[in-house]
Amino acid sequence: MDRLKKGLENNDIIIVDTTLRDGEQTAGVVFSNQEKIRIAKMLDEIGVHQIEVGIPVMGGSEKAVIKKIAAQGLNCSLMAWNRANINDIIHSLDCGVDAVAISISTSDIHIKHKLNSTREQVMESMVKATEFAKKHGVYISVNAEDASRTDIDFLVEFALAARDAGADRLRYCDTIGVLEPFKTYEIILSLIEKTGMDIEMHTHNDFGMATANALAGVRAGACFIGVTVNGLGERAGNAALEEVVMALKHIFNKDHDIKTQMFREISEYVARASGRILPPGKAIVGDNMFRHESGIHADGVIKFPGTYEVFSPEDVGLERQIVIGKHSGSKAIMLKFKEYGISLTEDEATELLPAIRRNTVEMKRSLFDKELVYLYEDYMHKKLEKGIDYSPINTD
Ligand code: MN
Repeated sequence: MDRLKKGLENNDIIIVDTTLRDGEQTAGVVFSNQEKIRIAKMLDEIGVHQIEVGIPVMGGSEKAVIKKIAAQGLNCSLMAWNRANINDIIHSLDCGVDAVAISISTSDIHIKHKLNSTREQVMESMVKATEFAKKHGVYISVNAEDASRTDIDFLVEFALAARDAGADRLRYCDTIGVLEPFKTYEIILSLIEKTGMDIEMHTHNDFGMATANALAGVRAGACFIGVTVNGLGERAGNAALEEVVMALKHIFNKDHDIKTQMFREISEYVARASGRILPPGKAIVGDNMFRHESGIHADGVIKFPGTYEVFSPEDVGLERQIVIGKHSGSKAIMLKFKEYGISLTEDEATELLPAIRRNTVEMKRSLFDKELVYLYEDYMHKKLEKGIDYSPINTD
């Protein structure tokens, strides 16, 4: 709880992680209660400001585990998710959380086809629920579900009513992920201008722009970003914690106290717990982030990592790897063999290259350490046999 206060006082961009709520809402994903507690503890250790822990009104083990998380004495704020009704909020208050999200759809398409309701009723439910939560002294985020398809005048009216009822911020939800950064910037700018409210970006990745849209919102003045580990979430997912935080630091030059060194660890944990494999090319934490194969890139990185890396592998808990494959050059091969304690001359490395390339193409992959050593042994063997008259190994 203290960390949220401190972050707000420092004008930090507040990171709200919803892996345990929106992340778990992903079709086919269920965390065990043990995993939920572990993820909450890791997120707290990493230093996120607020965690959305789940939906207390679901009752049963969901409510029990939220109570357990609330009893851990974490430094971050704990937010429980509610529909805009008093019964949901009573369940949340019962769990001992310090913050509530009160969520209701604001777009006409949702109001008509999902809620079978009217704008007036939506407004009334939100105001009643917000006033009730306010009376109980919890921090309140009013969520405008499907905000990105909501008539902007109605959204402004909704935000102002939320503020007057006691809301601390408005969560702007791009529920179906249809925003793009330029439009996001304009909408958020005008929303802040017209309401003066603190805005949280909650963006989905249907067109691959969740992180970009969240950051566009920040550029327009939003000071909260909703994220999930690995971008886990409904359909194509949410803005990813690791992407948002590293982009804030390295692209927006906004420093923060988040322990990014733990990113790979938590990504692996959530990948396992959610049964969603971490793709090798995953931004920030994927295996390939610091793997270099192509001759030119590997040579550059060997000379000075900044040539092809934006930050150091240790910053996110990864390691740099020079991979020997079809596109490798002699410099990388020399470096690789040094790891095995073998010093190759540049001529030897160049002579080994054709065999390495042929093998990688035949096997359609890079080579394991053992395979490289075998190729080297073959090469030395033939070199000794034939004296200086070296001919390529494994000739057909
Ligand atoms: Mn969502």
